[in-house]
Amino acid sequence: MAFFERFAPEHVWMRVRPDAIHVWSHPEVLERLRWYYSVMTDQAPAKFMLAKVVEVDEDEKGLQTLDLGELLRIRERYVREHRSLWVKARNLQLTLEDYRREFRTKPKVSLLHVDALIAQRLANPCILCERRCRVDRTRRVGACRVPLKTYVHSWFHHLGEESPLVPSGTIFYGGCNFTCVFCQNFDISQQSPRSGNVVDAKRLAQIQAQLRLHGARNINHVGGDPTPSLHTIVESMLYLDVNVPQLWNSNMYMSLEAMLLLTDIIDIWLPDFKYGNDKCAARLSAVPRYMEVVTRNLKLAAESGDMIIRHLVLPGHLSCCTMKVLEWIASNLPKDKILVNIMEQYRPENLVAKYPRRWPELARRPSPREMELAYERARRLGILFEPVS
Ligand code: SF4
Repeated sequence: MAFFERFAPEHVWMRVRPDAIHVWSHPEVLERLRWYYSVMTDQAPAKFMLAKVVEVDEDEKGLQTLDLGELLRIRERYVREHRSLWVKARNLQLTLEDYRREFRTKPKVSLLHVDALIAQRLANPCILCERRCRVDRTRRVGACRVPLKTYVHSWFHHLGEESPLVPSGTIFYGGCNFTCVFCQNFDISQQSPRSGNVVDAKRLAQIQAQLRLHGARNINHVGGDPTPSLHTIVESMLYLDVNVPQLWNSNMYMSLEAMLLLTDIIDIWLPDFKYGNDKCAARLSAVPRYMEVVTRNLKLAAESGDMIIRHLVLPGHLSCCTMKVLEWIASNLPKDKILVNIMEQYRPENLVAKYPRRWPELARRPSPREMELAYERARRLGILFEPVS
C-alpha cells in the first residue's frame, strides 16, 4: 500500500492506533470512503486542487469589484465543469499524476479564486452561518465571538479521531456559533476564543502543508467551529500546493451560501449531528431553527463528498435526540454510503459541570443501557457504525 510506505514501520501512530491500518481491510469502509481514500493515498487530486484548474473567464481586478450576488452567479456558471472533473477523478480517469501532467500551468483566475472572494463577502458583514448576524467583523463580534481575524489555538497530528482519519492533521480554530452548555472545548469556543495565534491565509497554507508532509491523512478543520474562519480557510487553499483531503469537522450550521462554497472544496465531512429537535437545540446550544438548517446541510454534504456523521449520546436524551437523529439519517441520507460514529464519551463539562441543577439530566455520563439501546436501534435501521464507533 503506497501511502503507508511513506512511514517508517516504527512510526508512533501505527503502534498507538493499529486500527487505523486495519480499518482499510473492511470492504464496507473502503467502499463508503472511496473518494477520501483515493485522495489520502495520492491517487486522486483533492477537490480544492480541481477548483484551482477550472478556468474562469473574468478579469481578476474586475472580479474584486463585484458584489456577492454577481460572484455567486459566476460561480454557478463554472460549478458544472468542476463537478465533471470530480466525476473523472472519482473514477480515476483523472489521477493525481494526470493532473500534474495536464495542469502544469494553472489559470490566472479559477473557480477557487471566485470561491475565495465569495467567502470574503460572506464574512463581512457576516452571513457565514445561519445566525446571519450581519455584523461588521472589523468592529464588533457576532454570536461566534471572533472578529474577522482567524485564531488558531493548536494544530497537530491527532491520534484520537475515527480510525480512517488517524493521523489527522487537526487545526483548532477559536470561536463557535453555538453555545453548548456541555461543550468540551469551551476554553477556545466560548471562554477565550481570541487567545490563539492570529494566522493569515498564507500561514494557514504552510501549516496544512507541514501537517501533510509529516504524515497527516487529512486536514481536519475544527474548533470551536471552523465556520467563522471559513474565509481564511478557503483563501489558504489558493496557496496550498500539497495534495491532501480537506475535512470539515463542524456543527453544520453554515449558511446556504457558505455551504455551497464548501461543496467545491471539502472531500470528507465530519458533521456533529447533536439534536433530534429544535427545543433541545435551543435549550442546550442556544441555537434557533436547528433541524431545518442542519438537515439541509447534511443532504448537500452527502451529495458532495464522503461522510462520517458523529452523534454524541446525551444522557436522558435518547428518545428526543438519539433515536430521532438515527431515524432521520436512515430515512433521508443514502445510508449505504455513509458511516455513523455513535459516541459514548459525553461527560459533564463547562456550564453543566458548574451548575448541574440547571440541566439535571446532563449531570452524568450516558448509561450502558442507553448506549446499548442506541446501538440496537442503529443496527435495526441498517446504519453502519461499528467500524468507527
Ligand atoms: S459566523 Fe455566524 S455567528 Fe459568527 S458573526 Fe458570522 S453569522 Fe454571526
